[in-house]
Formats: sequence, structure tokens, C-alpha cells
Amino acid sequence: MSKRDYYEVLGVSRNASDSDLKKAYRRLAMKYHPDRNPGAEAERRFKEAKEAYEVLNDPKKRSAYDQFGHAGVETSGGFGGAGDFGGGSFSDIFGDVFGDIFGSGGRSRGQRVHRGADLRYDLSLTLEEAVAGKEIKIRVPTLAECQFCGGSGAKPGTSAKTCLTCGGGGQIRMQQGFFSVQQTCPQCRGQGTVIEEHCSYCRGEGRVQEQKTLSVKVPAGVDTGDRIRLSGEGEPGEQGGPPGDLYVQILVKEHPIFTREDNHLFCEVPIGFVTAALGGELQVPTLNGKVMLKIPAGTQTGKMFRMRSKGVKPVRGGIIGDLICRVVVETPVNLTERQKELLRELDEAVQAGGSKHSPHATSWLDGVKSFFEKMGF
Ligand SMILES: [Zn+2]
Ligand SMILES: [Zn+2]
Repeated sequence: MSKRDYYEVLGVSRNASDSDLKKAYRRLAMKYHPDRNPGAEAERRFKEAKEAYEVLNDPKKRSAYDQFGHAGVETSGGFGGAGDFGGGSFSDIFGDVFGDIFGSGGRSRGQRVHRGADLRYDLSLTLEEAVAGKEIKIRVPTLAECQFCGGSGAKPGTSAKTCLTCGGGGQIRMQQGFFSVQQTCPQCRGQGTVIEEHCSYCRGEGRVQEQKTLSVKVPAGVDTGDRIRLSGEGEPGEQGGPPGDLYVQILVKEHPIFTREDNHLFCEVPIGFVTAALGGELQVPTLNGKVMLKIPAGTQTGKMFRMRSKGVKPVRGGIIGDLICRVVVETPVNLTERQKELLRELDEAVQAGGSKHSPHATSWLDGVKSFFEKMGF
């Protein structure tokens, strides 16, 4: 499926200012946000607007897009192409633009405080891979125990000392009027121990960011916009909270021969004008081999040939799509004198045959003639 122009998606001009972009995106997001507007079409429009905004809102990506179009900003896998998570987390994206639309009512932020952020991994696939399915390995950041301090956060050779404030219990009692209130120790934050000299490798955190490799099974038939959720593979939660989820967002690259629309594949087949006139057979490619296509005599440009079940097997099951070949008759070029001569000869013979050889041209010329008469030319 060919992608719409990002400016067109947002309905702004090419020299739109940042605030124009933001306004346009906000308007579309309000209109199509899945929370307010369930349904596949709204979801698609929402994603489309989000993608357009994410690109145009980034000056670097916007200028690449202006110069090279979609090819200039296509990510080749990895996180936004840059290999880091900046802007990869859904909550970041929502925080920026939706913060003041949905406020705290729309999303219960309070509950999410300790849960790790959801992460997004952009996975770009060839059409063949998307259609056949694939098992891939992706590398994502994770927090692992620091190997230098064994996770204690203390400088190697030293150890954490019992917290003097709470005596190691992690809790302290505060007197408030008549009441005695138990509180988490502010010195050790409830740990019961304090580190005097921090491990320099993890800066006392006890955990370091590392890459982990995940194996992702991409099912056959996925398309751009589909996403695979890997539950619990997002950012680790804070203070024992559950981790977020990792979303693998599918982006299918353009194919040199086929374009995909839903589960159908389209391709354009150039044929010589002699084949078009006389008919013939030619080999056309499908994603799983070649097939013969019969061209009937008298085929015109634009004629579509449907090959049943040579398209895509839908990822959620159902009927396999078709391959639709659109014929384009190619006018011969770079002709020799001899070839030209033959064509002129052919032309004479065809002309002599009258209107039956070119019914479209004849009826068109008749229309033009009566138009001229009516206009008095
Ligand atoms: Zn350490
Ligand atoms: Zn303490």
C-alpha cells in the first residue's frame, strides 16, 4: 500500500510551523484516538497521524522527509533508527502531546507510577518476510545485576553498612502530637543499609543497563501497522513494580514488484504491443514462484488479470488474497528504418480495415467531430 504524504495526512501546508503541526495532530488525535473511537479505521487513521507527526515534529527527520520522502525517514529496524529509546516509549509520546488533552482522567497515571514503561521496537521487514512469517532476534535494553559489586551497589571490597538512622529496620517512628507514626527511613529509603562508597561502575544502583536478545516469532501475513506485544519485556518497574510491555511495531518495506492492499498483491506487467494485439502467454512472478499468464488477443493497457489465492494469507486467518496483474502495453521505441516501414505498412492495412480495428479511437474521433460542429469550429 503506498503511503500518504505526511503533510496531507495532517492536512497542513509544507511550510507549516511547529505549532500548526501540533494543532493539526491534536485535532486528528482527538478525532481518532482509539480510547474514544474504537474501530479499525479510526485506529489506522490515528496511527497514520501519529507517524506523520513524529516525523514532521523532529526537525532532522522533517528535512530528510522533505528531501527524500518516505525513503528518507524509513527506519531500518532498531529504536527510531538511532539505537536508543529516546521517543520510543509510548508514555513519552503521550506525555508530550496528550498531557493536557486527557489530563489525569483519561489515563490513570497514578496507578502506573511503579509499572515500567512500555517500549516500542520498530521492526522493518521485506514483503516476503511479512508474508511468510519469520523468527527474528532483537536486542533490547534491560537492567542486569552489576557484575562488579554483585548488585550491592557498594564499591568492590567494601560493603553496605547498617543504617544508623533506623538501626537496620528500614522504618522509623515519628511522634506527631499524640500519635506515633511509622515511616520509611529517609536515610536508607527502607533498605536498612547505606552504602558509604558507591560502586563506580553502576554508580551505586546495583543494576546496569545491558542488552538482551529476545526471540520474536513474527506470524505469517503481518502488515505495516501490526504490532506484537511481548508482555513484561518493557522497562523494568521501579520499587518492585511490574515491568512494562514491549511492542514490536511492524513496518513492511516497499517491494520492487508488488504492492499490497489488504491481502491482495498488485503488480504491473508490461507487454509488447504485438502480444497485446495477437495474444500470448507470459511468465509473471508470484511470491512463491512463477505462473503463466494468458494474454487474450486485443488486450488493452489497464486490463487487470486476477490470479486467485496468489496473494497473502491473512495473519488472523481467513481467505487468502489474490494476485492482480495490471497490463501496460509498451509502445516500441528505437525502431530501425525497416521496422518503421513495416509499421507504416501495417498502419495502412489497418486504416483500410476501417473503424473495427480501433473502436475506441473511432468513437472518440466521432465525439470530437460533433463537438467541433456544435461549437462552430
Ligand atoms: Zn556495581
Ligand atoms: Zn535507615
